[in-house]
Amino acid sequence: MKRVLGVVEGKHGGPLNILLGGLHGNEVAGIKAINEVLHAIHIHRIPVNGTLIGLAGNLQAIARNRRFIDYDLNRCWTEEFVRQVYNKDHTLAEDIELRALHQTILEFKDHDYPVKTLIDLHTTSSEKGNFIVVPQSEAGNAMVKRLQQPVVIDLDLHLSGTLLKYLQQYGFLAMAFEGGLIGSSEAIDLHVAGIWEILKASGAIDQDVDSSFIHSSKKLAEYSKDLPGFVKVKYHHKITEADGFTMEQGYRNFQPVKQGELVATDIYGPVRAPVSGLMFLPLYQTSGDDGFFIVEEISIAEVT
Ligand SMILES: [Zn+2]
Repeated sequence: MKRVLGVVEGKHGGPLNILLGGLHGNEVAGIKAINEVLHAIHIHRIPVNGTLIGLAGNLQAIARNRRFIDYDLNRCWTEEFVRQVYNKDHTLAEDIELRALHQTILEFKDHDYPVKTLIDLHTTSSEKGNFIVVPQSEAGNAMVKRLQQPVVIDLDLHLSGTLLKYLQQYGFLAMAFEGGLIGSSEAIDLHVAGIWEILKASGAIDQDVDSSFIHSSKKLAEYSKDLPGFVKVKYHHKITEADGFTMEQGYRNFQPVKQGELVATDIYGPVRAPVSGLMFLPLYQTSGDDGFFIVEEISIAEVT
């Protein structure tokens, strides 16, 4: 697989939209969605304003269908670490990936676009995974609203070294867009719909282009039916490999949990929910540092 999935150089004066899939190598729904949208733009000759770029994230991990090879490529984006990785003796798999992505994305940081977005497409290991992560300051942004998905306003504060936080300082509106269960066709479908809405909301394509084959807005609403609007993190259960953490079966995102409920086990015994709220990102894969989160729904007044 190539790093650059496609580039559309459209009419001057429009936005920059960078679509990124596979930053975690076992999450390829985003790549499939990006290819589908780029293909449709080509086939239907849809006029584009500005620049649209599709990128694949962790090429080596994608080739092996693994989240990562040596370290998580979405937990390493700090100024200090990025600087270190440019040192020649950094030769781990993700060092190479990080440098390549850094050069490709940051090449655009000083270009004169009215808007620069980066949409980082992910999928999760639990059911009903669809949601958006943006910094709280952007939670009310029109482009975020158009996606009609639950917005987690402070997850970026609990996860260090995410790409979206790193790109904020360079003037990007960067968001993580979780499409749902890894390997599900629904995740691809949701990502495709979300990409169309971002392209419309950013001014990259015309609002009325969807009449014949894109039903993105309706689809997005269907996928978020019965899910909360805005949530924030109440509790974060961090784990290490030595914990032997195993999540109880059957939890999905935003499922209500009660304080004291048995949610997992580890080498120390039962793991119980320390607070009541909504289950979030229960871990059903072997790699990862986050066992689960508990979130709570908040009102829009608390966000803006
Ligand atoms: Zn991911």
